[in-house]
Amino acid sequence: MNCFYEEGLQFSCQEGCYYCCGVEPGFVFLSLDDLKRLAIYLKIDEQAVVKTYCRPVNMGSFSYISLKEVANHDCIFLEREKGCQVYQSRPVQCATYPFWASILESRETWHQEKQWCPGIDKGCLHSKEFIENELVKRRGINLAVWEEFVQ
Ligand code: SF4
Ligand code: SF4
Repeated sequence: MNCFYEEGLQFSCQEGCYYCCGVEPGFVFLSLDDLKRLAIYLKIDEQAVVKTYCRPVNMGSFSYISLKEVANHDCIFLEREKGCQVYQSRPVQCATYPFWASILESRETWHQEKQWCPGIDKGCLHSKEFIENELVKRRGINLAVWEEFVQ
């Protein structure tokens, strides 16, 4: 089936911008693989990652795990002058932005995202194959559950 990005989409993160890592309240949900990767990168165990850098997001009978924000709503791992301090091990939610199913629903949703991300429709052309590979990375991931890590 044809989609609006048959010929690919342009996107390049813009130097000096950190809008998707802070500024406004938001969630960066962690998968079990994200937690493992962060624990290895930070050289602490997964429970310590959760206790030090994360917060619970209540889903009713359980809570998912999101990265903490500091007072100005920046992600706890963002240093505005230097960027993401865990860049090589950043969560898949961050690594696949802006190639998320919700943003790729239609050409309109892609264009709407420009109000948040100045890198959309600029710079590198990403092929349809690349975009679909990014979409697969978040499909069916196991989000980490707070209660399984914090007693
Ligand atoms: S909003 Fe876009 S340009 Fe800004 S940091 Fe995020 S990905 Fe980069
Ligand atoms: S983990 Fe890194 S890339 Fe993800 S929101 Fe935080 S600072 Fe941004």
